[in-house]
Amino acid sequence: MNIHEYQGKEILRKYGVAVPNGKVAFTVEEAVEAAKELGTQVTVVKAQIHAGGRGKAGGVKVAKNLDEVKEYASEILGKTLITHQTGPEGKEVKRLLIEEGCDIKKEYYVGLVLDRDSSRVVLMASEEGGTEIEEVAEKTPEKIFKESVDPAVGLQMYQARRIAFNINIPRELVGQAAKFMMSLYKAFTEKDCSIAEINPLVVTGDGKVMALDAKLNFDANSLYRQKDVLEYRDLDEEDAKEIEASKYDLSYISLDGKIGCMVNGAGLAMATMDIINYYGGEPANFLDVGGGATAEKVTEAFKIILSDQNVKGIFVNIFGGIMKCDIIAEGVVEATKQVGLEIPLVVRLEGTNVELGKQILKDSGLNITAAESMADGAQKIVSLVG
Ligand code: ADP
Ligand code: MG
Repeated sequence: MNIHEYQGKEILRKYGVAVPNGKVAFTVEEAVEAAKELGTQVTVVKAQIHAGGRGKAGGVKVAKNLDEVKEYASEILGKTLITHQTGPEGKEVKRLLIEEGCDIKKEYYVGLVLDRDSSRVVLMASEEGGTEIEEVAEKTPEKIFKESVDPAVGLQMYQARRIAFNINIPRELVGQAAKFMMSLYKAFTEKDCSIAEINPLVVTGDGKVMALDAKLNFDANSLYRQKDVLEYRDLDEEDAKEIEASKYDLSYISLDGKIGCMVNGAGLAMATMDIINYYGGEPANFLDVGGGATAEKVTEAFKIILSDQNVKGIFVNIFGGIMKCDIIAEGVVEATKQVGLEIPLVVRLEGTNVELGKQILKDSGLNITAAESMADGAQKIVSLVG
C-alpha cells in the first residue's frame, strides 16, 4: 500500500527522522492558512499524489510570499499532473503539502528496499540525489552504494557511517546522516515497509540533514497490525477496479493491455499473462479468483474485467482443482446475463467437473470459443482481439 508524502513524513517524524515542518491542505484557503502558521520566508507548495516526478511536472512550487502560495495552490489543486509515474492519464491533485522552504546545499538519495535475491533489507544511497535512482543505476552505477542488513542484528551504525562517507556527506555531518539512516531503518522495520525512499535527502545551508521527499510503501499483508498506516489509505489514489476486487477478496491488478484474464491460482495467472505476451498480446489484468471461489465471486470478477474499457476480449483459463469448473461456468454465465458480453470470450477449462462446466457454457447460448489447451486459448484470444 502507498501513502502520501506528507503522511510518510508524519511517520518518519515520530521516529526522529528529520523532515521540514509542513501541513496538509485540501483547499486554497487552507493552504494560505497553513503557510501563515508556518511563518517561514519561503514556502513550498507540493502536490500530493501517489506518484513521483512531481517537481518536473510542475507539482512542486517555491513561494516567496502568501500571494504566491495562493497563486500556486490555486494552480496545482484540481490540476491533472502527468509524471513519468502516473501513466498518460495523469492524476488529479486533491491535496497539497504546504512546507517550510529549505536552503538546499546538496541533494542525495537514500533508500531502503527488500532485496529478494538475498532476502535482506538493503540500504542504498547515492550522491546523485533528485534524479531517479533507475537513471543513476543505468548511467553511473558506480555512484550507488549498498549495505546489506543482517536481520538478526539490524542496520549497524558502522554501515550507516560507511554509506555516508561513500556518498560524500560533508565530514562534520556524517554522524547526523548516519543517525538519520538508523532512524529510517527503525521506521522501515517497525512499520512493515517494503520501500522507504528519500529522494532527495538534503544537506542544508545551516548544516542539517533532512528528508525533503518521502516515499513509503507498506506490505499489504501486514496491514492487520499496522492500523495507523491503514488509516492513511487514500482510495482516490487507487484503481477503482482494484478496490472493488478487494471487497470480494479477489487478487486483481489492473494492467494496460486489451486481454482480460480470469484465472485461478497466482502461478497459473502469471503463466497466462506470459503466454498471452508470447503470442503477441497484452494482458489487461492479473486476476486470481482463488481456490474456494463461489459463483458470486466469479460473477463479480467477470464484471470487474468487463468494466475495463480497454478490454477487447477475455481469456478464462481455469484448472479446476479445489475450484470446480462448473462454478466458474455458472459465474461467467451469470455475469454476462447481468452486464452483457459484446467481446470475444475464449474459455479453457480443465480438471474437476470439467464436463459439467463445458455443458453449462454450451447451454448458455453465449458465443464462446472453446480452447483445448493454454497455448491454444492464448493464440485464439490474441487473434480474435487482433
Ligand atoms: P518529486 O520527487 O515528486 O519530484 P520532491 O519532493 O522530490 O518531488 O521535490 C522535487 C524537488 O523540489 C526536490 O528535489 C527539491 O529540489 C525541491 N523541494 C522539494 N521540497 C522542498 C522544500 N521543502 N524546500 C525546498 N525545495 C524543495
Ligand atoms: Mg523526490
